[in-house]
This record gives sequence, C-alpha cells and structure tokens, in this order.
Amino acid sequence: MPTPVCVYIGDELARYGFGEGHPFGPDRLGAFWSQAQVSGLDGRVIQCAPVSAGQAVIERFHTPDYVARVIRQSDSGTGYLDGGDTPAFPGIYEAACFVVGSVLGAIERILNGECRHAFVPIAGLHHARRDSAAGFCVFNDCGIAIETLRLQHGLRRIAYVDIDAHHGDGVFYSFEADPDLVFADLHEDGRFLYPGTGGEGETGTGEARGTKLNIPMPPEAGDEQFYPAWERVEAFIDRQCPEFILFQCGADSIAGDPITHLRYTPAAHRHAAQRLQHLAEKHCQGRLLAMGGGGYNRGNLALAWTAVVNALLEE
Ligand SMILES: [Zn+2]
Repeated sequence: MPTPVCVYIGDELARYGFGEGHPFGPDRLGAFWSQAQVSGLDGRVIQCAPVSAGQAVIERFHTPDYVARVIRQSDSGTGYLDGGDTPAFPGIYEAACFVVGSVLGAIERILNGECRHAFVPIAGLHHARRDSAAGFCVFNDCGIAIETLRLQHGLRRIAYVDIDAHHGDGVFYSFEADPDLVFADLHEDGRFLYPGTGGEGETGTGEARGTKLNIPMPPEAGDEQFYPAWERVEAFIDRQCPEFILFQCGADSIAGDPITHLRYTPAAHRHAAQRLQHLAEKHCQGRLLAMGGGGYNRGNLALAWTAVVNALLEE
C-alpha cells in the first residue's frame, strides 16, 4: 500500500497566474497535472478540490491594510501590488485565497489523519511580506500556514525547508526573531539573483539565533553541489525536532529555468522529499506538506513536482 498523499488540483488554483506568456502563467498547473496523468500518478493520490480561505484567515499573517489593498486592486484589476513585479488582475484576491485555503485544507487533512503527506502545486509563495506582495507572491501561504498551525492547531515548533532557487525572504524575515520557526533554505547566492538576501551569516536574531540555516549556492551549481549542502540541511532539521515540516520545492533550481542560474536535476527534488519524509516520520508522525513554489520551465516543474509526489508516496 502506498502512503496516503493528498494532492490539491482544480482550475481555481490555475487561476493564480499572471497571464499567458508570463513566467508565472496560468498554464503551470496543467503542465504538472498532464505529467501526473501520463505517468499514472493521478490515480495513486487522493485528489482534493481547491478550497478558499476567508479574510480573517489571511490576516493571521498579513496586515489588514495590505489585505484591503489587494481586495481593492483585485476589483479594479489595475496597478502593481509591489514595486513592479506583481501586477494586479481582476480576481487576483479570490485566486490568492484559493492558494491559501488549499494549503490550510491540506494541513487539516494531515492533522486529522486523512492523509500522511500532501502536495499543493500552486503554493509556496514565499516572497510576500506581511504588508506587501513581492516577486509574483500576493499572499504568503507558508507564513499563513505557520501562524495557523500555532493559532488553530496548537503546534509550536515548525520546520520550513526551501530548495527554490530564490531565497524565501518573506518567510525568513517574518520569523527571523522566532526561535520556534526552524528555517533551512538552499538558494542561488543573492549577489546573482532576486531577492538578494539569505547570506550564510543570517542565522536568526536574538533568542532565535541558530534556528535558521541559509546556504547560498553559486550560479551553475548542480546536483554535485546540492547533495553535500542538503546533508547540512538534513542534519540541521534532525537536530531541531520539529512538530510539522513545510517543504517549498520550487522547480526553478533545475537546469534550464529561464530566470535563474542553478542546474540541479529533478533527482535533487526527489531526494529532498524522500529525506524530509524520513525526518517527518521520525519526529512528527509523518506530518509533511510540500508546496510547489517557483519553476518557470514547464517541463522542469512537471518532472520535479511529480518526483516529489512520487517520493511522498513511498513507504
Ligand atoms: Zn523561485
């Protein structure tokens, strides 16, 4: 018997996209799901329909002023939600609410035992700050997940692991001083890629010092650089004994992505998922939620995300 894994799939998630031809276009979900169908993965997972999150839930992480601004600009469909990377479009608020709601739905299903692990493809929007969008990310579903695990589910020590090519700055800086948010992030060196942060010396502030691990990778780093760096992530998470593991498995760290310079293969994503599954079984009854993150080469995201789900299905 495979391990029960929930995958959120449906048009409501695809709608979170910035138009045809945009790197973060609405065709990303279909690229993933086509590969899942071709490989028979669709029949091995529990398919879950996307669900929406309410405004109060979004405000567990985001400021009410910012949420009100997203609602206004979603109605008008004009302007940017940040300095110029993240354009508003009509319905962007509703689309972003489905991303958040699906992540929170997946968490509930894991905690109530409906599944052991879950994957939400169009999620892991790790750049959004509490009071602003950033880098194609409107609402930070990762941050909302962390706040919800605490407020609603009573968990405290949560691990966030991120192998997207970009630094998860929206998560890192929001919890930089939080000693119970364990953070590990492998990303392209900020001197060469947006958002420019995530230096090795950024390990958390105050009593949180030492609870964060940032590993910048040189441009062109491939699997041979990934594996030793991953060993450090794994040992770090193992020492921290988390109660829940969030995994942002962005596929833009794979060779051939149009906007980054890393050169992993999907085997890196598979390996990370396998090892985090092992840690989740060891420390927290298997509680592991994977979020798709970035990935702008459609073939790459299809292979990386299906590799992650396949790894989660293994016993
Ligand atoms: Zn990215």
